[in-house]
Amino acid sequence: MRGAHYGLVVLGSGSAAFAAALRAAEMGRTVVMTEARTVGGTCVNRGCLPSKNLIEAAKLVHEARHPRYPGIEPYNVRFDFGELVRQKDEIISVFRDKKYEGLVDGEENIDVVRGRVAFANDHTVQVDGQRIEGERFLVALGSTPVAPEIEGLDDVPYLTSDLLTSEEDMELKELPGSVVVLGGDYVALELGQMFSRFGTKVTILERSNRLLKHGYEPEVGLVLQRILREEGVDVRTNTRVRHVRASEGGVAVELEDGDEVQAERLLVATGRRPNTEGVGLEKAGVETNGHGEVLVDEYLRTSVPHVFAAGDVIGNQLGSQMATPVGAHDGTIAARNAFAGNGEQMWPVDHSVIPRAIFTDPQVGLVGMTEEEGIARGHRCWCRALSMELVPRAGAIHDRRGIIKMVADADTDKVLGVSMVGVNAAEVIHEAAMGLRFGAKIDDFIDMLHVYPTMAEALKIAAISRRKDPAKLSCCAE
Ligand SMILES: Cc1cc2nc3c(=O)[nH]c(=O)nc-3n(C[C@H](O)[C@H](O)[C@H](O)COP(=O)(O)OP(=O)(O)OC[C@H]3O[C@@H](n4cnc5c(N)ncnc54)[C@H](O)[C@@H]3O)c2cc1C
Repeated sequence: MRGAHYGLVVLGSGSAAFAAALRAAEMGRTVVMTEARTVGGTCVNRGCLPSKNLIEAAKLVHEARHPRYPGIEPYNVRFDFGELVRQKDEIISVFRDKKYEGLVDGEENIDVVRGRVAFANDHTVQVDGQRIEGERFLVALGSTPVAPEIEGLDDVPYLTSDLLTSEEDMELKELPGSVVVLGGDYVALELGQMFSRFGTKVTILERSNRLLKHGYEPEVGLVLQRILREEGVDVRTNTRVRHVRASEGGVAVELEDGDEVQAERLLVATGRRPNTEGVGLEKAGVETNGHGEVLVDEYLRTSVPHVFAAGDVIGNQLGSQMATPVGAHDGTIAARNAFAGNGEQMWPVDHSVIPRAIFTDPQVGLVGMTEEEGIARGHRCWCRALSMELVPRAGAIHDRRGIIKMVADADTDKVLGVSMVGVNAAEVIHEAAMGLRFGAKIDDFIDMLHVYPTMAEALKIAAISRRKDPAKLSCCAE
């Protein structure tokens, strides 16, 4: 470690932190990142990558056992869950080395200090007693799983998404026979389906009347709900938990309707909150809002002009999403703004087009506004949801599950949003995102030649449905 004074002091070492650190170092500044857990943060160690690795393995198992094609016999493929976890950890370690730790190992201008960080004042942090001073600061402390207030919950052991972690005690190394999942958002669905496909009996308990209640088109949650049920996941909506207790076989969850669900393990996947407690933000004068998010302006400046914030820690402010690419992109913007010279223009963040995905099977991809959001913003909406049955590729590969919904302004035909549930939706959504970025209209999607047969034709077909019956098209959506 070079000393106790840096150009940029970064609280955290996740995706937002690393992007900012690299950018600040490129600008010739000295940087220190601070980390209490594993360097690299949530995405690489216990979020995106480990989940997508194991979800794909579960898909292979499921497809072998449930082939979609007549003529392919089901095969009860065997697997070793412990070995799957081991290979997951290996992959994570390689990624961590390539994209995080290894990147800064020989980097002259970047240090990493391990330990819990907290502000001592507006120009100093303390990491386990060690004082570090800085010219500029970036709060990039990420978020943490949050558990709802349920009677008895504190007295039973439960899993969170931290079960995916490596080199930490919370890592799940044995496949449970049964899991009851609290929550109906993306982590609950991705992990719920994954466990179910590995052969675990899964019950998903969701309080509202459908899965993915907030921020998604209603069709998305309803379609996924049906698909998961068809696969054998016990999805229960409109369900409130009254009490949780330890039982002989694991845990018993008593519901308000009097029913009880027993399972070996309980997975609490009811959301995340920013890591802003106990980090001395008040000592630096950095303000948070009622959700515990660090308050920022469009330049990612906090209430203290030389302290910036990016990543999960800003929550959904300025239209942001808790997702890795958003944090990483904003991290670089925060670093640039932190060192913008006198009179130099700062860069505002632009969260108007954030493509997102859920890695269930089929995947969910979405970008832009939902119908409800479009109407709330004063648009007269043209909105259409179509079945994947209309997409030639879906039929050709025996996977017609899902829908696509396009939301456009009925007066200008400008496309405002797209949601898709279907094969490769996480890839297809990028075409829609690029369209939104450049203000595409319905005819832009219609006139663009699409490769035949691809799932991306879903976009063209949805757009065509503005003009004519999409069931009466010739081969290439013409
Ligand atoms: C199961 C799961 C799956 C996900 N899948 C995806 C996906 O597929 N795609 C996607 O885009 N996003 C996904 N996400 C979200 C994504 O992981 C996060 O949005 C992203 O990692 C946030 O990055 P960040 O830099 O803001 O915070 P983090 O990566 O969380 O980094 C913050 C770091 O700060 C550290 N820290 C916190 N407090 C202190 C302290 N007091 N002292 C020192 N260090 C501290 C933490 O240990 C952490 O390492 C997933 C998340 C989960 C949980």
